[in-house]
Amino acid sequence: MSRPIRAVIDTDAMRHNLELVRKHARGRRVWAVVKADAYGHTLEAAAAGFAAADGFAIVEVPEAERLRRLGWTKPLLLLEGFFDDGDLDALEQLDITTVVHSEWMIQALERRAPWHDLKVFVKLNSGMNRLGFAPAEYPRLAARLAAVPGCRVLGPVTHFANAERTPAPGCRVPVAAQLACLGPAAQAPGACLANSGATLFHDEVAGDALRAGIVLYGVSPDALVPAGQLGLEPVMSLQTEVIAIQDVPAGGSVGYGSRWTARRASRIAVVACGYADGYPRRMPDGAPVWVAGSLAPIAGAVSMDMITVDVTDVPAARPGSPVELWGRHVPVTELARLAGTIDYELLVHRACRVPVVVK
Ligand SMILES: *Cc1c(COP(=O)(O)O)cnc(C)c1O
Repeated sequence: MSRPIRAVIDTDAMRHNLELVRKHARGRRVWAVVKADAYGHTLEAAAAGFAAADGFAIVEVPEAERLRRLGWTKPLLLLEGFFDDGDLDALEQLDITTVVHSEWMIQALERRAPWHDLKVFVKLNSGMNRLGFAPAEYPRLAARLAAVPGCRVLGPVTHFANAERTPAPGCRVPVAAQLACLGPAAQAPGACLANSGATLFHDEVAGDALRAGIVLYGVSPDALVPAGQLGLEPVMSLQTEVIAIQDVPAGGSVGYGSRWTARRASRIAVVACGYADGYPRRMPDGAPVWVAGSLAPIAGAVSMDMITVDVTDVPAARPGSPVELWGRHVPVTELARLAGTIDYELLVHRACRVPVVVK
C-alpha cells in the first residue's frame, strides 16, 4: 500500500467560487490568478475548474507553456511582466499579455519592435511601493508604448497593499487612499485594479477587468471574515490516514523534544503527514486535526513525515481512519493563524511529494 496522503481538489467548488466572483465583478473581465501552480492546486485543476474565466494570470513563462500544452487558448497575463530579453520571444509564440512596470522593460520592447500585436498593461504604484510607475505618468507611458510598432496598451494595472473589508487599525493606505493616489488613471479605459479583497469588499473600485486569486480557492481575503459567510467553498482538502495508535501512560511524553506530556492515560494517533508535506512545523499543541469524524488536538512536535494527535476522546480512531489536515472540517485560515502565518502560504507550500487528486 502507498502512503495515504493526498490533496483532493474539488473542481465543483472552483466553479462555484468563480461564479461568485462573476457576480461581484459586475461585468468586469475576470483574470483567474493561477501563479504558484494555482496556489498549490495545480494548473491541471485550474484549467478544469476555472475554464469559464476570461484569462489566466501567471508569473513565469514556463507556466504559460504548460497551460498552452493543456489546451488553454484564452488570454494569459504575466503579472510581473518578463524578466529579461530571453522571455520576449515567448510573448509572441505563446500569445502572452505582459505587464510593464519599469523603464528598462519599455526600452526592451522598443529594441525588439516590430511586434505582431503585443498586448501590454502598464503597472502603476498605488501605495504599495513595490512595482510600478507613478500614476501621473500613465498618459505619457501609454502613448509611448502605443507608438512601439505592433504594441497595444490594454490599460493600467495596480495591486493594492490593503484591501480587507475593514482596514487594520492604524492602516495608512486604505483602498480610498490608493484610489486617490491613482487619480484619473483609475478611470482609464481597460483598467485592471481589483484583487480578491477589492472584488469582494470594495465596490468603489471600478475598472474593466479584475484579478482574483485566493477567493477562487475558497479562502476569504480577510482573515476576520469567515469564508463561509462570503459563500465561498474550500477547494483543497489535505487528507491522509492514521498509521498507528500508541497508548501512552499518564506522565509519558510524545515526539521530538518531548513537548507534550500525557496528563492521563492517552491514545495517540500517528498520522501520515509532516512538515515535508507542507504542514507547518510550528503548529502548536492543541491545533485541530479531523480524525475519524471528530476534531482532535495535536499532541507533540510536528515531525518531517508524521504528526501525533491526542485521540483519547475519539474511540473510533484506529489505523486506517481518515484524517483531514485542512479543508471542509478544518479551515486552512484557522490553521494558518495558529502557526503564525497566512492561508496563502499553507496552500502554496503543499509539497510536491503530496499527490494531487482532481475531483
Ligand atoms: C497574486 C496577485 C493577485 C491575486 O491576489 P489575491 O489576493 O490572491 O486575489 C492579483 N494581482 C497581482 C499582481 C498578484 O501578484
